[in-house]
Amino acid sequence: MTDYAADSILVLAELTPSGELTKSTVALLGAAAAVGTPAALVVSPPEAGPGAAEAASAAGAARVLVAHAADFTTALTVPTVDALAAAAELVKPDAVLIGNSIEGRDVAGRFAARTRSSLAVDAVGISRDDEGIVAAHSVYGGAYNVSSAATWGFPVITVRQGAIDSPARPQIVAIETLEVAASGKAAATIVSFAESTEVSSRPELRGASKVVSGGRGLGSTENFALVEQLADTLGAAIGASRAAVDAGYIEQSHQVGQTGVSVSPQLYVALGISGAIQHRAGMQTAKTIVAINKDADAPIFDITDFGVVGDVFTVVPGLIAALDAHKA
Ligand code: FAD
Repeated sequence: MTDYAADSILVLAELTPSGELTKSTVALLGAAAAVGTPAALVVSPPEAGPGAAEAASAAGAARVLVAHAADFTTALTVPTVDALAAAAELVKPDAVLIGNSIEGRDVAGRFAARTRSSLAVDAVGISRDDEGIVAAHSVYGGAYNVSSAATWGFPVITVRQGAIDSPARPQIVAIETLEVAASGKAAATIVSFAESTEVSSRPELRGASKVVSGGRGLGSTENFALVEQLADTLGAAIGASRAAVDAGYIEQSHQVGQTGVSVSPQLYVALGISGAIQHRAGMQTAKTIVAINKDADAPIFDITDFGVVGDVFTVVPGLIAALDAHKA
């Protein structure tokens, strides 16, 4: 027996290195609330304060479990999997949602293997039908939309950052402590940790709600400044095609696509990008897609909501001026 809601969805909270709840966890709680009753699990070192747990209830968790793992900062992944296994035992969830980050995929794989659960990765949507929780995926470079569901037990689902944006109502809940017996499973040891911070006034590409990307059509590193100007006007993150990265207009960390970052923003603006399948694979799930390209037959126009056939060097300065005038 459990006193958790029968339709509970267990969400693994992801924390920043400084212990704050990530934006993607807020989105996971929203996704969970849309299909059931969200229960959040916060795993942190013993000295951590209640900030992340409080933030989880403010983001819609109906129950918040906190596991303080003594070896959280010295053993990789295993303490989190131990806590998740204990939480799942207690909550008996209909599904477990985890962010599709590097750490999230690592935890999800180990946890699914340990609990003999099914694993669905990189979901872009979560729904519920008569038989349980269903994950939606955009696959083969966005060419197909498919659904996956578990035929036994609860599914473990990793959710693409930025793909789901339906905030849940804040809750005021008592924070519960979860006792976790360490499994003693082999774990890689964390010898040292150095945080690498990039100082930027722009949003981070992964999880950004608006992205402006530039392609080979920009023609040079100097001209790529136009992409930055439009991004700053819109408060957007900066993306790029691989051709723009290969040409040295911008660093590889900004590459969107099959071999770059996958984004699902509310708004994606593609400037001078042809729309090759490998690029589309990383942005096709954006809610609204706008493209400016001087070739009316460019494949990017097959997936745009708004397309402008024109020269970026004429259209974009006009667009920036119009947006500035609108703000004033
Ligand atoms: P192009 O295809 O050269 O297109 C440039 C566009 O700019 C054209 O449509 C042109 O009409 C337009 N243009 C030119 N001048 C102007 C102007 N003044 N105003 C308006 N429009 C203009 N690509 C990615 O992006 N991401 C990936 O992750 C990725 N992974 C790959 C993995 C593999 C295994 C392979 C084989 C390829 C991958 N690629 C990836 C490369 C991909 O196939 C394309 O080559 C690349 O996306 C093209 O970039 P682009 O659209 O900027 O350049």
